[in-house]
Amino acid sequence: MYIKLKNKKFIIFICFSLFNLSLIAQVFVRVGIRNDLNTLKLKIIEGDYIITNGKDTCFLKQGDSILIENNRKNLIAKSGKNYLKGDSIFLFSTIENGVFSALIKDKYIYYEDNALFYPYNDFNINFINKLEIDKYVASVILSETYPNLPYEFYKAKAIAVRTFTIYMIDSEKKHLTDKFDLCNTTHCQVYKGKCDYKPIIEACNETKGMIIVDDNNLPILAVYHSNSGGLTNSSENYWGKPFPYLVTINDQYSAKSKNSTWTFSLPKEQWVSYLAKNGIDSSNKNFQNAFNFYQPIRKKFFIDTLTLRKIREDFNLKSTYFNIVEEGDKVIFNGRGYGHGVGLSQEGAIEMAKDGKSFIEILEFYYPNTKISYLNL
Ligand SMILES: [Zn+2]
Repeated sequence: MYIKLKNKKFIIFICFSLFNLSLIAQVFVRVGIRNDLNTLKLKIIEGDYIITNGKDTCFLKQGDSILIENNRKNLIAKSGKNYLKGDSIFLFSTIENGVFSALIKDKYIYYEDNALFYPYNDFNINFINKLEIDKYVASVILSETYPNLPYEFYKAKAIAVRTFTIYMIDSEKKHLTDKFDLCNTTHCQVYKGKCDYKPIIEACNETKGMIIVDDNNLPILAVYHSNSGGLTNSSENYWGKPFPYLVTINDQYSAKSKNSTWTFSLPKEQWVSYLAKNGIDSSNKNFQNAFNFYQPIRKKFFIDTLTLRKIREDFNLKSTYFNIVEEGDKVIFNGRGYGHGVGLSQEGAIEMAKDGKSFIEILEFYYPNTKISYLNL
């Protein structure tokens, strides 16, 4: 195409502007999907794709299938007559909204944007989905909640999930050696593939780029849980690390929801033997508290150095916010809340939204000493 010289500056300006726009739109997240499969069957669902080993490239269109296999640390990708081999294989969408499926446990799961494949060991494939952050955020919201919740809640949750994701990528780096940013389980955030639920996608678009920042304008560790039981936990209590915005707050919004109370009982004998294993026996001056334990405020320790978190994990309890009473030959745990209790209470945030509170009011309530800002790229 012939371009007049005098228009060159204009064209460069347009290209530069488009480049900037694409920078704003494109923050990508690498999510670890599976590392226990020897072969992986994929199919292009929407859009055009390329698959490459870094040297050779194949073009793929809607309906094309790809089989990826790990043969003693050599990855092989086959699609029709095309064949690629290498120590890494990348599947890239050449349009903005490409979708592909992966056959996992006899089910086709839809994923958006791109995929990266590396050998996990001699036999299995490390399958990573690399996608635009808001598509990821939408999927996490749907994976961790459900449809028909108040729109302001979805907006608050979108900002919390986006902020948490950025914090994981920039600061926490839990999966640095795994070649991805976050796994798809509760260890990081639950992610089950493409979100098709419009209100959640809209909540992500409407809050695009918004994150929660601290006094230094840095993204916060925006943790969340199911229900606080009426009093949120501090990060100091649960993880031993204080943050000025992860402090205990009175949360009346969580007090009436589904997971606000629970009970658990245990034979007294088993409780005594558990305590003995953890260095607490009848010679301990606080031993009687083991059968008569109260938390008017959330505590970190049960007796001496035995933490409530350890008890929760050992007995798979819903939370660390419990009292203990003795009843005959049993000890009864009367508990409140579900989850670690730190940061935003999901059920509380839903109640706030039902009560007419805005997403900003919800976030200010659960993350005090913070403000909303925009992703700084
Ligand atoms: Zn993880």
